[in-house]
Amino acid sequence: MTKVMIIGAGGVGGVVTHKCAQQAETFGEIILASRTESKCKAIAEQVKAKTGVTVRTAQIDADNVPELAALLKSEQPKLVINVALPYQDLTIMDACLEAGVHYMDTANYEPLDTAKFEYKWQWAYQEKFQKAGLTALLGSGFDPGATNVFTAYLAKHYFDEIHELDIIDVNGGDHGYPFATNFNPEINIREVSAECRHWEGGEFVTTPPMSKKAEFTCPESVGTYNIYRMYHEELESLSKHYPTLKRAQFWMSFSENYLKHLEVLENVGMTGIDPIDYNGQQIVPIQLLAKLLPDPASLGPRTKGKTCIGTVVKGIKDGKEKIVYCYQICDHQACYAEVESQAISYTTGVPAMIGAKLMAEDKWLQPGVWNIEQFDPDPFMEAMNQYGLPWNIIELDEFNLDQ
Ligand code: NDP
Repeated sequence: MTKVMIIGAGGVGGVVTHKCAQQAETFGEIILASRTESKCKAIAEQVKAKTGVTVRTAQIDADNVPELAALLKSEQPKLVINVALPYQDLTIMDACLEAGVHYMDTANYEPLDTAKFEYKWQWAYQEKFQKAGLTALLGSGFDPGATNVFTAYLAKHYFDEIHELDIIDVNGGDHGYPFATNFNPEINIREVSAECRHWEGGEFVTTPPMSKKAEFTCPESVGTYNIYRMYHEELESLSKHYPTLKRAQFWMSFSENYLKHLEVLENVGMTGIDPIDYNGQQIVPIQLLAKLLPDPASLGPRTKGKTCIGTVVKGIKDGKEKIVYCYQICDHQACYAEVESQAISYTTGVPAMIGAKLMAEDKWLQPGVWNIEQFDPDPFMEAMNQYGLPWNIIELDEFNLDQ
C-alpha cells in the first residue's frame, strides 16, 4: 500500500482526495497538505463522512523548498500529487528531488510574472530526475491528461500515422452566476486571454485570442456549442512526441455571456498581471478579480449540465484516410452527488488519481520527466472506464472546423 501526499486543497484537490480514499487498497495513507490547512480539514471531514477513510492534513507553503522538503522527509510518501497552482510546480519538483519522492501534476509550470505556458522549465529537470531514480509525470488531468492519452491510444490502436489533431473541450454546464470560472480564476483567465497558438506545418502559428470560432455538435445529445481556438499546453508536448502531426489545434466552448464579461474586464484592465499601486499598496488586478469571483469549489451544488471533452484524429491506416473521435461525457450533478464537486474539478481529479495509481503500482515508473502520452495509454484508458470517466470512440465520415 502506498503513502501519498496531495498538495493543494482547492476544487481539484478535493476530488483527488475523495478518489484516492475510494482506492484505499492502493493508497493506504493519504496526507493532504496546502497553504490553508482549514481547507484540508474540511475536505478530510467530507471524505471521512463519504468513505470512512481518515485523511491526515498539514499546513505547507509549497513555494518554500526547504520547508516542503522537510515535510516530505518526515512523512516519506512514495509520491506527491501536485494540485496546487502551476506556479508551485518547480519548487515542488525541487523538494521531491531533495526528499527522494516521485512527482506528478496536472498543469505545466508558469512563472507568476509572464502568462506563458511552456514545458521547457519542467523538461529541464529530465537529467536530475533520471539521476535520482525518480519519476515526474507531467499533465495527468483531463486536458492536459486524458486528451493526451486519447491521442496516444488512437495513434496506437487506430492509425499507422496521425496527421491532424483537434482537441475539443465543451462545457455545457450552467452554474447560474453571471460570471464565474470553473477552475482557479487567475489561471483560467490568464489562459483564455493569452494569444492563440496552434501547430501547423512544423511550427506554432500565432493568432489573436479567440479569433477563430466554429460550431460543434457533441455526440449523445449534449448539444451544439460555439467553440473557440486557443492555445493549450498539451499542443506543445503532443506536437513534439507525434512528429507526423501536420496540424494540432485546441478548442474550448464559451458562452456569449462569458466572453462579454471577459471583454469588459480586459478593457478596464482587471485581467492585468502586473502590479499597480493603489493607495501605496501593490495590487495585481487579476488577483483582486480572482478574490471577487465565486470560488470554483463552491460551484458544485449549482452546476447543471454536461461536459464533453475529446480528441478528433485524422490519419492513415493501411493506406486509407480515417477520422476517429474519442470523447468522454460527464454530468455535473452526478459528480456532485459522488464527491461534492462540479465536473471540471472531477474530470481533472479522477485522471490525477489514475496517474498516481499507475505510479503507485509501479506500472508508470521510469526515472526521468515524462509527459503522460509517453507512457502506455492502455492501463489509463481501462482505469478511466473503471473509476468514473467512461469514454467512447466513434469513426467519423467527415470533420471540418474551418468555416
Ligand atoms: P484552486 O485555486 O481551487 O486550488 C489551488 C490550491 O492550491 C488551493 O488550495 C491553494 O491554497 C493551494 N495553493 C496555492 N498556492 C500554494 C502554495 N504556495 N503552497 C501550498 N498550497 C498552495 O485551483 P484548482 O483546484 O481549480 O486547480 C488546481 C490545479 O489543477 C491548477 O494547477 C490548475 O491549473 C490545474 N487544473 C488542471 C486541469 C486539467 O485538466 N489538466 C483542469 C483544471 C485545473 P489556498 O486554499 O490557500 O488558496
